Amino acid sequence: MRTAIGVDLGGSHVTAAVVTDDGTIHRQFEQDLEDLKFEKVVDVLSERVGAAIKDGGSEVVGIGIGSPGNIDAKSGAVLYSPNFGWENAPLGETLRKRFNLPVYVGNDARCATLGEYTFGIGRNTKDFVLLTLGTGIGGGIVAGGELVLGNRWGAGEVGHHQIRPKDGFICACGKIGCFEAQASGTGLIRHAMAVAPSFPRSTLLDVARDKLSSKKIRKAAQDGDRHALGAWNNYCADLAIGLANIIAFVNPETIALGGGVSSAGDFMLDAVRPQVDALTTMVPKGTTKLLVAALGNNAGQAGAAQMAFRGGLSARATEVAPAG
Ligand SMILES: [Zn+2]
Repeated sequence: MRTAIGVDLGGSHVTAAVVTDDGTIHRQFEQDLEDLKFEKVVDVLSERVGAAIKDGGSEVVGIGIGSPGNIDAKSGAVLYSPNFGWENAPLGETLRKRFNLPVYVGNDARCATLGEYTFGIGRNTKDFVLLTLGTGIGGGIVAGGELVLGNRWGAGEVGHHQIRPKDGFICACGKIGCFEAQASGTGLIRHAMAVAPSFPRSTLLDVARDKLSSKKIRKAAQDGDRHALGAWNNYCADLAIGLANIIAFVNPETIALGGGVSSAGDFMLDAVRPQVDALTTMVPKGTTKLLVAALGNNAGQAGAAQMAFRGGLSARATEVAPAG
């Protein structure tokens, strides 16, 4: 069976996985990132990839790397990544020099979308969207069986369409009221802070602000805490606006929700579905299913490996990445 190394490069952690072409992850080699300078990250990444290649043996056909940022899929350069503070970082080229194998680099959220589409909840669909509700909102769109990459690999940045430009939270990208600012895990925390004055006896804020997690708020909401529920309801209202917009743009068969907040499962979906229906106007209602994603953190590694198997993120695999 063909084997590739699928790498999930995050802002604080790297995982290199040995993956076969049926999407099975055989072994993972992980490491925290202490220093985000390009050279330091490449050193850690190379060491983990080297260990994975050794484990994968002679059947390894290539390396696929999912990285945050806008990425030139042809060269594998990270054109810019706010998470790392990189500009024009030659990630693909540097790794090609270190390993005598083809190296492909793609945006991490697009890789996760490809993984979830090929091996997870998106299997057997042709029109599919993945949204990961984590620190930010990562996303990707599959239309007509093809991952949508855009003119300059910018398609799928759904986290940065504005849903509350007048009264929303300031987004990491600098705009106000982006979908990501309102409906990511971080957004849930901000909703909890925003409604706090209405709940003076709330125990939710007894912890230091930097200890307040979206998980704590989500769980408190599920337990019926009034402050957490107030935040949760505002959160779900904003999530529904973004979901209805995505349905208006691409009317996919399925939108899969991943990331930490999606652990709420039906508690989230039951709250959001009727609001999405109410906001869906010119598209036939109920023609897009809202589901929880299936692969969790493994989606990124499986998708990155799939990118290496097919020779690029596109099904047409037109990207060129010479070995060595
Ligand atoms: Zn933004």
